[in-house]
Amino acid sequence: MYTPSQIFVKWEEIMYIVMIGAPGSGKGTAAKILAKELNLPHISTGDIFREQIKENTNLGIEASKYISKGILVPDDITIEIFKNRLAKDDVKNGGIFDGFPRTMAQVKALDEMLVKVNKKVDLVIELKIPDDVIVQRILNREVCSNKECGAIYNSKFKPSKVPGICDICGSKLVARVDDTEESIKKRIKIYYENLGGMIEYYREKNILYSIVPEDPTSDKASEQAVNSVLQKINNR
Ligand code: ADP
Ligand code: ZN
Repeated sequence: MYTPSQIFVKWEEIMYIVMIGAPGSGKGTAAKILAKELNLPHISTGDIFREQIKENTNLGIEASKYISKGILVPDDITIEIFKNRLAKDDVKNGGIFDGFPRTMAQVKALDEMLVKVNKKVDLVIELKIPDDVIVQRILNREVCSNKECGAIYNSKFKPSKVPGICDICGSKLVARVDDTEESIKKRIKIYYENLGGMIEYYREKNILYSIVPEDPTSDKASEQAVNSVLQKINNR
């Protein structure tokens, strides 16, 4: 596991953590584990959009136009829904942000939102996974259909004990509608287009912590990534 040496975060002050990683990098899985370990809410804009789509709200209908094409939901819509989520009580003392911000406009918007309440992004975790692994991970991705659970599996790298059934809650596992090969390629391309600026911005602030898992195909890659962060926090 490679981790950079110069990072000047005060680990005891960490509240707001941003997870950055390509689609299929395991950032969702890592964010869930980290949220549980640090007892902070896990906030995923992808999950919020999927919920809205399921409930057929106006926002859901609008967002699905973009998500089904494998492109980003426009910044104004995304920033608005994130702002509403950030305003809830459970995020007052911190949160793990998974999939937001994803563009420079969102990066700036997030800073502005947090500054208003005298807070800031304390740590940015970047998961670096090779592209071929990413494609394989998404193509074989299975998610628990039970919204309350939302466990993520991979039929190749991290299979459930009983095929098609969630280990945790016993619900059916399903593929995500946007996990087609065409959509994946587009999402990865868009990810890299936005990545450079974000990385530069957070690196300059000295809050970027990049992780390159030794074996990214391992079913434990996300757990190992989280452990390396927790170790850092605990050894402060
Ligand atoms: P992935 O990381 O595999 O793309 P997510 O669950 O994070 O999956 O997001 C699913 C889709 O939701 C994205 O492809 C995109 O269309 C939309 N989305 C999620 N977060 C954002 C965001 N911050 N900005 C714009 N679109 C987003
Ligand atoms: Zn489940």
